[in-house]
Amino acid sequence: MNKPALHCPICKKPAQEKFQPFCSKRCADIDLGRWFYEDYRIASPPQNEEEEKELLNSIKERLDPDPNVG
Ligand SMILES: [Zn+2]
Repeated sequence: MNKPALHCPICKKPAQEKFQPFCSKRCADIDLGRWFYEDYRIASPPQNEEEEKELLNSIKERLDPDPNVG
């Protein structure tokens, strides 16, 4: 019997059993960061687009310190 193939919702690679439905801890963390960002935005709405971009960037940097990897 074949299990349905799960694909990482972040990068679309095949999911690893250990990190389902993600392929890696990194992608799981990115997903978590997205939720964190949504919560943060609801809790304290940015004053303008500029501020919102900065907030998103700061979260991205924390999750993805080396943009050359991946
Ligand atoms: Zn992934």
